Amino acid sequence: MLCHACYAEPDAIADCTACRGTGRATRMPLCEEAWSEVVPGLWQGGHDVRSQAGTAGVVGAEFDLVVSLAVREGSGPADGVEHVVLRMADAGVDAALAARVDALAAQVVAALADGRRVLVRCSGGLNRSGLVVAAALVRQGRTPDEAIGLVRAARGPWALTNPGFVAHLRTLGPGGLALG
Ligand SMILES: [Zn+2]
Repeated sequence: MLCHACYAEPDAIADCTACRGTGRATRMPLCEEAWSEVVPGLWQGGHDVRSQAGTAGVVGAEFDLVVSLAVREGSGPADGVEHVVLRMADAGVDAALAARVDALAAQVVAALADGRRVLVRCSGGLNRSGLVVAAALVRQGRTPDEAIGLVRAARGPWALTNPGFVAHLRTLGPGGLALG
């Protein structure tokens, strides 16, 4: 996991007091909010939040499309809400996963263009959901670093600290997945 203060950026890592120059972190706190709006209509969240309320993270009918990258029994969404499930690990990105993330990002962008409210969620609402949300933001025309910045602004500095996800996002262009 990348350090949440310097993200192992070469020009910041040497002076970083949070990781003492290693660029790495070993633990990640939970967010306060179950979900956060990243850009109008597009929300990112997770099942696990700091709140002890049993209903935190349970989705009703707040959204028109819910993309779940981790599945938790009893966490919604309500009947009638479109629900897309892709179980994936918070690990690296191989070609098969890259293609599935790209397809999900395209689906998210199409839903937003139709004025639908979209939630992308995983467990902590930080990395897996951040990967799909940022890929969608790049498809909308933002640069990868703009997209990563928007995700971190919404979900906090621990979002997108999976170095494999960050490296993958930086290969993307507005047309989606770079083929070949
Ligand atoms: Zn650091």
